[in-house]
Amino acid sequence: MKIKDLEFEKFITATQIENRVAELAAQINSDYQDRNPILLPILNGSFMFASDLMKQLNLPCKISFVKISSYNGTASSGQLKTLIGHEESIFNQDILIVEDIVDTGLTLEKIMSDLRDRGTKSVEAISLLRKSVAREKVVDVKYVGFDLDDEFVLGYGMDYDGLGRNLVDLYKKIN
Ligand code: 5GP
Repeated sequence: MKIKDLEFEKFITATQIENRVAELAAQINSDYQDRNPILLPILNGSFMFASDLMKQLNLPCKISFVKISSYNGTASSGQLKTLIGHEESIFNQDILIVEDIVDTGLTLEKIMSDLRDRGTKSVEAISLLRKSVAREKVVDVKYVGFDLDDEFVLGYGMDYDGLGRNLVDLYKKIN
């Protein structure tokens, strides 16, 4: 399949995703018994995963979508990233960050430490996909759907230049 200048091939089907999401949800249902977690999906890529995951949760839970805004700080530290959204109060709450894909893990690391500084009760992360770089760096992702090599993927909410989010299967770039 071609999107703009790149060729992609299917590598994880909608059925495989559906089965894995059900397994992850079962694990969360068990781990969060008697708790009311707040899901915090990072937009845009994780909207589809977050929706399917939430439908499989059988405990009372909330959801609040967040976005990362990047801007150039005035200090020499260069690019800073802040979390925007989460109108819900997160103080003393169990937070479950929902990511589409963890690559270097820098985004997630920053968000998790920000949230821990704000008096949350617990902060964990779930990511549908994780690349090998993040595994080496030991980023703390408690729930992972599929581990990948370092390939560029799209579909199931993830894009290439804004396109491809509507695909129900996952595709990877052909080199
Ligand atoms: P990190 O900070 O872990 O390097 O970057 C994570 C973010 O980069 C993801 O949430 C996603 O938005 C984007 N990203 C990383 N790898 C891919 C990829 O293979 N495909 C797509 N569509 N986005 C990616």
